[in-house]
Amino acid sequence: MTITRFAPSPSGYLHLGHAYSALFAAAEARAQGGDFLLRIEDIDIGRCRPEFEAAILEDLAWLGLEWPNPVRRQSEHLADHAGALKQLEAMGLLYPCFMSRKQLNETLSAPHLAPGMGPDGPAVTDTDRLISTEEHARRLAAAEPHVLRLRMAKAVAMAGPISWRDVDAGPQQATPEIFGDIVLARKDMPTSYHLAVTVDDALQGITLVTRGQDLFHASHVHRLLQALLGLPVPDYRHHRLLVDETGRRYAKRDRSLTLRSLRDIGRTPADILDMVALAC
Ligand code: GLU
Repeated sequence: MTITRFAPSPSGYLHLGHAYSALFAAAEARAQGGDFLLRIEDIDIGRCRPEFEAAILEDLAWLGLEWPNPVRRQSEHLADHAGALKQLEAMGLLYPCFMSRKQLNETLSAPHLAPGMGPDGPAVTDTDRLISTEEHARRLAAAEPHVLRLRMAKAVAMAGPISWRDVDAGPQQATPEIFGDIVLARKDMPTSYHLAVTVDDALQGITLVTRGQDLFHASHVHRLLQALLGLPVPDYRHHRLLVDETGRRYAKRDRSLTLRSLRDIGRTPADILDMVALAC
């Protein structure tokens, strides 16, 4: 049976782009007689707020969407993410990195050191080797705040050649190395987007991951984590991103186009469906 999901972060109000993404996931499930689930991705504690979560549930219900309860809230399942981290740790695939993004940029600014550009910025590797072994050990012993990175080259070698299927783009050879050593546990949260989304999709039995084109490359990483953790492999559909009349992507900064502001000026759910269809 097909199980899809919409997985918003409660860090702002939903806009037309979110409406499209949610309706897309629900339509895929409906077309195949499956289930549509909702998941709240609230691990970014600095940006997520309960009032945004309440607004998301209200706006989606107003649009006419239905999903089974309880809704999975990522922050309540950190033990699942910790279990996955433990597995990767035991495989010798994680290392602590004490350097901030700014420090890394400064340290790697010399042209001969500069890492290649990945989908999320510079694809750094082996950042623990940028400080001496003694300094690394000292910081570890002092329990200085750090992130945990995946040793990408080793992970890719361990997984061997892997592929995944995008329903629209066809079979894809996974190339997670384009990201470099991704962060799997943040300083403020013992998980990360890549880890949480992969583990939760598996635990919720998602068979078809639908999301925007902006996350196409992330699927390479998620496929690698599935291989390493022994998780099932869903199919993927990366839908187009909605743009406004000037060609700009809808974003949380576009206050005037949130579903609630449109509702406040009298738009109906049917109007939203029309607007989404027009912007596609
Ligand atoms: N939580 C992510 C976002 O709001 C989406 C995650 C996903 O669909 O994989 O952009």
